[in-house]
Amino acid sequence: MAIALYARKSIERENSISCETQLEYCKSMLKPDEQSEKVITFIDNGFSGGNINRDGFQKMMRQVERGRIDKIIVYRLDRISRSLSDFVDILNTLKKYNVKFISSQESFDTSSPYGEMIVKLLMVFAEFERQSIIERVTQSYAHRSELGFYMGGRKPYGFDLEPAVINNVKTKKLSPIPEEIEHIRYIYEAYAVQNVTLGRLLKNLTENGIKPLSGGGWTTAKLSTIIKNPIYVKADNSVYEYFQRFNTQIISPPESFDGIHGIQVYGKTKHAANNLDWSDIKVVVMSHEGVIDSDTWIKCQQKLAKNKQIRNAVSNKTSWLGGKIICSLCGRTMTTIKGKTGSGKIRRYFICTGKSHFKDCKGTKVTNYAESLEDMVYNEISEKLATLKSVKIPERKSLNPEANELRNKLKNIELAEQKLTDTFLKSEVGSDLLEILSRRAAKLKTDKTELLTKLDELVSKTVDVKTTINLSKRWKTASFEEKRGVCNLLIHKIFINEDGSCKVVWNI
Ligand SMILES: [Zn+2]
Repeated sequence: MAIALYARKSIERENSISCETQLEYCKSMLKPDEQSEKVITFIDNGFSGGNINRDGFQKMMRQVERGRIDKIIVYRLDRISRSLSDFVDILNTLKKYNVKFISSQESFDTSSPYGEMIVKLLMVFAEFERQSIIERVTQSYAHRSELGFYMGGRKPYGFDLEPAVINNVKTKKLSPIPEEIEHIRYIYEAYAVQNVTLGRLLKNLTENGIKPLSGGGWTTAKLSTIIKNPIYVKADNSVYEYFQRFNTQIISPPESFDGIHGIQVYGKTKHAANNLDWSDIKVVVMSHEGVIDSDTWIKCQQKLAKNKQIRNAVSNKTSWLGGKIICSLCGRTMTTIKGKTGSGKIRRYFICTGKSHFKDCKGTKVTNYAESLEDMVYNEISEKLATLKSVKIPERKSLNPEANELRNKLKNIELAEQKLTDTFLKSEVGSDLLEILSRRAAKLKTDKTELLTKLDELVSKTVDVKTTINLSKRWKTASFEEKRGVCNLLIHKIFINEDGSCKVVWNI
């Protein structure tokens, strides 16, 4: 029997993590007692994960089918496949041949039904994560950024990129261009004023003859990019708190937010910049000095976010529930259309296609507003994910001597408690003896609680706590696409009855 390490890198993604590095991660997942076992590596360099026609992968699966492999380790789940259906098929094959499957980044194993379910869910997230542009920042990249190296590529307005060598690594350092910095100050100060829109700001600049010194003319898009960039802020405690409110990972310690230095964010930067959604973003304090005070910077972010909300409310015409809503009366799909309410507000609602297109269904009696349905399903999915979180791997007693020992101790305590109760019940004990017995009972109770806590910890260690917590956490900040993805995976159909009540039919 052998352990297989599998690595894949696609051609189209130049900056993705190399096969060698992936294998390093895989090797780090080998347990001490596995070091002596036979390890075979399978590599697909320059292959996409869109299908399974990959030489290395096929070779590995043939070995699996011959019963020569008992464990597969990958760097990430999506190395195996980017298609959910392929992935589920592969998972089933591995199960058939009793092959364990371990992923270094998502850290879980498939030897439990729970793990398997989580795999499916994770794949949905992985699928959508893939679409974000600078997603998988490689580890070395992340490390370099954590050291405060500028990783942004193009130079931000107001700064020059000067070559520098830090820790023997060639990198670039930000150095301010005084005239451009003046423009940056003007832009922030003007935008921070109430009622000044990006359009108004653009006009202001033109009217005052302020022209950019590099990179062509101003546009509202450019101005918005500048205003969003934390590279300009003098990062202090309130900036720390600002980022803390999002699901960000603040790499630099609180004390580095000294009110002097600027900030670099990385991770899904494209996503973040477009949506002002800083979740899953890493925040690092840099070595260059910021130019905008924290109050002004935060004020501008809040203003941008507010405008963004208004834009979203108008443009959001589809629903992530699309295709899932069924009319109970005729069994046809319901689709969203926009309509005006009595007060003239435009809202989206679901209407039966049997009514709107085929004219053979009278439809529901009430208006099914998309927002209300989305809220309802959002909550139902939250509850579903919460129940998944509390599911525990069936205990494998034989595999866990430590848990076994704890359970034995627990048994003894329970026996002692039983004896005590019996003594109490036999009554005729004097008040002094009663006191001793109560004290003994109290002691047993604390011992029991302590043991139960330990046992709980031990058992939950075998469950991948990190992954499960991430799932429900992710759901709270899920994007439109993620909501749609999870909804597609978890929900078969949602039936709407004549009176507007509904019934969710789950896949899982
Ligand atoms: Zn209908």
